[in-house]
Amino acid sequence: MSVPRVAVVGGGLTGLAAAWHLRGDAEVTLYEAGRRLGGQVHTIELSDGPLDVGADAVLARQAAGPALLDALGFAAEERVHPTSSRVQLWIGAALRPLPEATVFGVPTDLRAVVASRVLSPADLAVIASEPLRPRRVVAGDRSVADLVGERFGHRVVARLVEPLLGGVYAGAAKRLSAQATLPPVWAAAAEHRSLLRGLAAHRARTAADDRPVFVTVRGGLGRVVDRLAADLGEAVRTATPVRALSQDDRGVALHLDAGTEVVDAVVLAVPAAVAAGLLATQRPAVARELAGIRAASVGVVALAYDRGDAAAAPAGSGVLVPRDQGRLTKAITIGAGKWPHLAARERFVLRASVGRIDDDRALALDDDRLLEQVDAEVRRCLGLRAPARERVVVRWPDALPQYDVGHHARLDRIHHLLGQGPPGVHLGGAGLDGVGLAARAADAARLAEGVRRQLHARAEATP
Ligand SMILES: Cc1cc2nc3c(=O)[nH]c(=O)nc-3n(C[C@H](O)[C@H](O)[C@H](O)COP(=O)(O)OP(=O)(O)OC[C@H]3O[C@@H](n4cnc5c(N)ncnc54)[C@H](O)[C@@H]3O)c2cc1C
Repeated sequence: MSVPRVAVVGGGLTGLAAAWHLRGDAEVTLYEAGRRLGGQVHTIELSDGPLDVGADAVLARQAAGPALLDALGFAAEERVHPTSSRVQLWIGAALRPLPEATVFGVPTDLRAVVASRVLSPADLAVIASEPLRPRRVVAGDRSVADLVGERFGHRVVARLVEPLLGGVYAGAAKRLSAQATLPPVWAAAAEHRSLLRGLAAHRARTAADDRPVFVTVRGGLGRVVDRLAADLGEAVRTATPVRALSQDDRGVALHLDAGTEVVDAVVLAVPAAVAAGLLATQRPAVARELAGIRAASVGVVALAYDRGDAAAAPAGSGVLVPRDQGRLTKAITIGAGKWPHLAARERFVLRASVGRIDDDRALALDDDRLLEQVDAEVRRCLGLRAPARERVVVRWPDALPQYDVGHHARLDRIHHLLGQGPPGVHLGGAGLDGVGLAARAADAARLAEGVRRQLHARAEATP
């Protein structure tokens, strides 16, 4: 029997890792629309060294992330863990500590919230009374704002939860699914009469885990992409967008600018809207569901200051800016405060994030204005004495998927509908099941396993 052919569409982490897993099982080709591999993993060179301007950290406690680094041969000395996880909130003119002992901003301990001085006495009274109030049991998914706001008040959502969720989804709490974006909170709300007490129990179970939460690699996460690409070699075709898919007697046909190629299986590791377009005629019902997954555009502004100008900068890994503060900057990751390898750099480097699903003020500016305004905000926030010596903006259009209320039910429908058609299409990517590199690494392994099962079934069926 001939060697099976597999196409992987999309050269972000999901596609690269899926192709990498499959390279010994089939003749694999990876098609990437752009000239650069890595998708939302992108390391640029500043004058004093590399800086990640997409993802900068892998969740170390989700096994698939570190497992991929192991498999690619990253030695312990090449890996770096954050020096500090101390995050502050920029509210009014002051920086206040994000309360400790929260689960994604949702309080588990009233004293910690009091100590942070982020909320008013009236807000604190709502939290204090939460265990005493009757529970409202609601079947089905709910928005983060609805679930958390009902128990702790809308200021907890606006000041604590949404700023943290903003880093991952750039989304609005009133539309994000509690089930999909805050699973421990969702589970505690279902299981416990009091969310405060339920989450305190969750924290007590997880607090003993003293492993670092995040990991990155010296030189930037672009090195992960480079190693995957090096192992894939000739299998990678950049600047080769796939325009459409169709079913053929021989398998799945990929329509490229230069013609059509037929394969036994195709892995779609592209944003949900792109997958919807590719499947529009072949699997219209699946495509309609995928088209319903919205995405937020964001931007990263990399700034490098003279060390002397940053002498008064606060300690800690970063700053979050609640939306009600009206700033362009949504978050600041202080390179030197977060990562030991960046602390050793000649310049004081940091990244400021802009853009939310329903706030495109920053991204509507041209690059010069955006850089000027964000630099000014960052200086004011961190007390830096002079403008950045080096400034770069990287725009990420439609990058962060929105897991809106009902996302899990939508995923169930997608998988059900996909299973009803002929085998051959394997759907993955951050739009479906997990924003973040560790989730992407897990998805890649799952996709590869699904393809192997399909190829195995075909081999069994062939006389
Ligand atoms: C600014 C930013 C910061 C982030 N920070 C973190 C972080 O610190 N930690 C973390 O874990 N996660 C972070 N994330 C999220 C994480 O980077 C993404 O979830 C992950 O990289 C998505 O990988 P992917 O392969 O699914 O998709 P992508 O990286 O979007 O890759 C999809 C690829 O498909 C290609 N493509 C599109 N259409 C076609 C086509 N028709 N044919 C062929 N190719 C096509 C695209 O060019 C792209 O290369 C961040 C994301 C952003 C934007």
